[in-house]
Amino acid sequence: MFDNLSDRLDSAFKLLKGEGRISEINVATTVKEIRRALVDADVNYKIAKEFTDKVKDKALGEKVLTAVSPGQLMVKIVKDELVELMGGTETELDLSDKPTIILIAGLQGSGKTTFSGKLANYLNTKKHKKPLLVAGDVYRPAAINQLQVLGEQIKVPVYTEPENKDVVQIALNAIAQAKKDGNGVVIIDTAGRLAVDEAMMTEVANIKNAVNPREILFVVDSMTGQDAVNTAKAFNDRLDFTGVVLTKLDGDTRGGAALSIQYTVTKPIKFVSMGEKLDTLDVFYPERMAQRILG
Ligand code: GDP
Repeated sequence: MFDNLSDRLDSAFKLLKGEGRISEINVATTVKEIRRALVDADVNYKIAKEFTDKVKDKALGEKVLTAVSPGQLMVKIVKDELVELMGGTETELDLSDKPTIILIAGLQGSGKTTFSGKLANYLNTKKHKKPLLVAGDVYRPAAINQLQVLGEQIKVPVYTEPENKDVVQIALNAIAQAKKDGNGVVIIDTAGRLAVDEAMMTEVANIKNAVNPREILFVVDSMTGQDAVNTAKAFNDRLDFTGVVLTKLDGDTRGGAALSIQYTVTKPIKFVSMGEKLDTLDVFYPERMAQRILG
């Protein structure tokens, strides 16, 4: 994961090796390398520039410090800024409603259904919330089937109405059923399209207005880099979601989405997905991710 970025940052820090102190010149060279590394990781240039401007100001502001070497100081400053860029601290789900409604949105193929399964399994086995999964993709019978298979695997009930195409009605019926059955959480998996389109947005917005979810999680494939960030912006403008789920991080070699999505939409990354197995749900920890990037 993000190996190239890690190597490039390491090389940038090495430029300060042997330097006795921080100076305008050596900081400028290092910071330029860091900026290039970020841009090559698919971070938007403006974000990379703002990031390195902050790093530069901090480094020059600390030049009187002699306790640590310039290289170590730079690593510390970059780490702190990376943590900040990725949202600072981890953010928990708000599960305070009874039942708590969680709406899952994103493009087709982003990993919504897989994530819904992971989340349901986690809420079932770790939080004992007795979740109900709802098949809200009414256009693809295969999608309904996929969720049913998943539900069987993790032993979580799945609400479906295969003959009904009115997804708002399905969602409302599912919630009524959840209230009757005492489910603590209702997870509504929605239909995605291959690209952002008006019909999809309207549909998800209609479900949102009808069910008033406590959490709206936007699921996005991290491998799509800046496209992921742009898609996030489009969904957030329309849905005002509560958090991001970054999927397929196991296949993401660059890291651009992880680094810049929170900056762009000012919503936290709540979870990441690093594989197809349903028994792990990974909370996103900015601090650990920054540490991992810096090696
Ligand atoms: P949906 O269309 O948004 O519901 O997406 P799916 O959940 O069906 O996932 C699309 C494809 O991506 C499937 O083949 C999944 O197995 C795969 N997938 C989902 N999440 C991950 C992940 O975290 N890592 C990897 N490598 N593959 C994933």
